[in-house]
Amino acid sequence: MAKLSIRDLDLKGKRVFIRVDFNVPLANGGQEITSDKRIRASLPTIQYSLDQGAAVILGSHLGRPKGKPNAEMSLKPIASRLAELLGRDVKMASDCVGPDVAAMKPNTGEVLLLENLRFHAEEEANDPGFSKQLASLCDLYVNDAFGTAHRAHASTVGMVAFVPQAGAGLLMDTELTYLTKVTTNPERPGISILGGAKVSDKIEVISNLVNIVDRLLIGGAMAYTFLKSQGQGTGKSLVEEDKLDLAKDLLSRFGEKIMLPVDHVVSAEFREHAPSQVVERIPDGMMGLDIGPATVEAFSGVISSAKTIIWNGPMGVFEKPPFDKGTVAVALAVASSGATSVVGGGDSEKAVKSAGVADRISHISTGGGASLEFLSGVELPGVAALTEK
Ligand code: AMP
Repeated sequence: MAKLSIRDLDLKGKRVFIRVDFNVPLANGGQEITSDKRIRASLPTIQYSLDQGAAVILGSHLGRPKGKPNAEMSLKPIASRLAELLGRDVKMASDCVGPDVAAMKPNTGEVLLLENLRFHAEEEANDPGFSKQLASLCDLYVNDAFGTAHRAHASTVGMVAFVPQAGAGLLMDTELTYLTKVTTNPERPGISILGGAKVSDKIEVISNLVNIVDRLLIGGAMAYTFLKSQGQGTGKSLVEEDKLDLAKDLLSRFGEKIMLPVDHVVSAEFREHAPSQVVERIPDGMMGLDIGPATVEAFSGVISSAKTIIWNGPMGVFEKPPFDKGTVAVALAVASSGATSVVGGGDSEKAVKSAGVADRISHISTGGGASLEFLSGVELPGVAALTEK
């Protein structure tokens, strides 16, 4: 069901509550922002609201304060950084609800940043009273925090019931547009490349995508559970014994769609620059740490003819060179394919960046967990809550 976007809302003269994702990495006891990427990602929606004549209230969580105030997880440093980036004042509230905050309600053209929503246990509990208090601050609601859209919290779901209209912010809208495009009638052939450590983390994603795509390429440690389920030796590779039956079942039902590695880069040690070799069959005592060159070639062939690509998870232990080669090669193949490509998960994002091809990917998702849930076919609560068009 299509949801309202911020562009559908009449923001002029209104107070808009924007649920942003300012869950940034901090150092020095919470004083220093080590990456302002998420703050920058919210700027288009904030600037758009101000340009439309709104007063802006920003709410976010930061870290896991477990329902209590914690100076190390205060959003104060973010207010200063945001003010610099916006080139205008940002008022910082001492809390996110209560009379002091209500007295600070911004006027047209002003920006108020609320203190960490998770300083109140009611946020994660999706408490109706707390939701109502948050909603009382605003006339309209916008959710731009895709990364928390898979959580039904007060600021992502609860408060929406108490506002007249709720729309997706520009960042959220882009996420939904791309993820919907690649999963609903994708231009064919549509393929998915899945990797990473565990089958168990991605069972729902595999089960859903296998029905949508034409080919499913599996790399990373996940592949060894599939290979072992076919009776192949996997040495010391990471295998989830309790998922062997599931892997076997998926292969028996969708074997013609699923492509597994045909060779591997193996080593006896799990460390950077450990001595390694390429093998077709993993010897005892060795572990598979990357896909081999023949697999890279086979995968690249499928990738180059794809029109739609969904990629989540690295093909090997890409943090430890030389076991990054397979992942980097896949990143290059995806970038060169000319397909509509959506990449999700922090590791695949790092891989496309380190390969220098991020600008040739159609969309890099900002929410790891949320994008996985979307790909598993579940409607995200934070999206479901928005007003229908
Ligand atoms: P995920 O968070 O599930 O996407 O998994 C990412 C992690 O999987 C990365 O830290 C990789 O190092 C790890 N990984 C990928 N391939 C392998 C492998 N063959 N053996 C062990 N770990 C792997």
